Amino acid sequence: MTKADELARHSTLGMPAYIAGTPKEEIEKKYGIKNTVKLASNENPLKVSPKVIEAISREAKNCYMYPEGTSPELREALAANLGVRASQIIVGNGGDHVIGLLCHAFVEEGDDVIVGSPSFRTYAINTAIMGGNLVRVPLKDLTLDPEGILNAITERTKLIFFCNPNNPTGTIVKKDRIRAFMRRVPERCIVVFDEAYHEFVADPDYPDSMEYVRAGRNVFILRTFSKVYGLAGLRVGYCIASEELAQTLGRVLPAFPVNRLAQAAALAALEDQAFVAATLENNTTGKEYLYGAFDKLGLHYAETETNFIFVDIKMPAKTAYENMLHYGVIVRPCDQWDMPTCLRVTIGTMDENKKMIDALIHVLDQNNQ
Ligand SMILES: *Cc1c(COP(=O)(O)O)cnc(C)c1O
Repeated sequence: MTKADELARHSTLGMPAYIAGTPKEEIEKKYGIKNTVKLASNENPLKVSPKVIEAISREAKNCYMYPEGTSPELREALAANLGVRASQIIVGNGGDHVIGLLCHAFVEEGDDVIVGSPSFRTYAINTAIMGGNLVRVPLKDLTLDPEGILNAITERTKLIFFCNPNNPTGTIVKKDRIRAFMRRVPERCIVVFDEAYHEFVADPDYPDSMEYVRAGRNVFILRTFSKVYGLAGLRVGYCIASEELAQTLGRVLPAFPVNRLAQAAALAALEDQAFVAATLENNTTGKEYLYGAFDKLGLHYAETETNFIFVDIKMPAKTAYENMLHYGVIVRPCDQWDMPTCLRVTIGTMDENKKMIDALIHVLDQNNQ
C-alpha cells in the first residue's frame, strides 16, 4: 500500500479497474500502421449522422455558456418518444455515469448489489466505490439467470443490475421469464434494466420493461446514445423511472453533467431516424455474414440481439487479440471476463467484417501450425 493509498477511502483499495477496448490511435502509433479496424467497443460502424455534426457546429458558438444542468429539451424529446413525463428521465454523461449515479444514490456500505457474471464491468466498480457487496450470479447458457438472481437475494439486496441484452454475450432474457422474475423480486429491491442495446433487439419476445415503470415498480431503465446513435465520444446516457425514483436519483446529479454540444447532438440524433434504420440494416447484414463465417470456421457463438457477437475461438483469446493487431484489427478478448478462449467482436461495415474474418483466419492458422 502506498502513502496515498493509506489516505484513500478503504472501499476503493481492492477496486477492479475498467479495461476499455484498445483505442485506434494507440495501435496505429505503436505499429506505425493506418486504417486499423476497431471492433472492440461496440461503436457505430456508420459513425455519426451528418445532422448531428451540423447541430454541433451550430451549437459551438454557445460554448462559453454553461449548459442547462438537467438537459430539459432532450428530456422533453425523449419523454414524447417514450410516452412518459420528462420528470421521469435523468440524463447523465453516458450510461456509465448513470450507473455511477445509481450506486451513489442507493448503495449503502454493506448493501448487496447483484450482477450477472460475466456482465458489464462498471457495475462492479461503482458498487465497490460505495462499499457495496457485489454478488455475482453466473450466466446459464451465456444468458443471465433470473432464477439464480432470485436465489441470491438477501435482506441486504438493494440493487440488481439486469443487463438485457447482456454485454459481453449479446443474449436476452425473454418476456415470460422477466415477468416471472418481477413477480418474485421483493418490492424493496431496485431492478436496473440496462438496455444499452435495446434498439438492436430483433426478438419479438424481448420484454417491454416500461411496463414495470408504469406499474410503479422500483425499476430503472438505462439507455444510451453511444451505440445505435453513434455518440460514444460525446457521452450521453439516460434512465427512465417513476417520478419519485427519478427525483431521488436527481439529487446526486452533478450541476452540469452533459455539455452543450452533447445535448444538441443527442437531440439531432433522435430526429434522424433514417440513420438509426441504416445502422440496424447494416447490423443485420453484418450479423448474417459473420454467423456464416464463424460456421465455416466451426466456431461456436451466441446468437446476438446486439451489435456485437461473442464467439469461442478455441485458442487463447489474448494471443489471438495480439496477433490480430498485426493485421490492423482490434477486437475484445474476453479473458477479463474469465472466458479465456472467447472474443467479443463488434459488427462493423462489410469491409470491416471481412478484414476481421481474414485476420482471424490467419491467426487461427498460425495457432494450428
Ligand atoms: C455501452 C454500454 C453502456 C453505456 O455506455 P455509455 O457509453 O457510458 O453510455 C451501458 N451498459 C452496457 C451494457 C453497455 O454495453
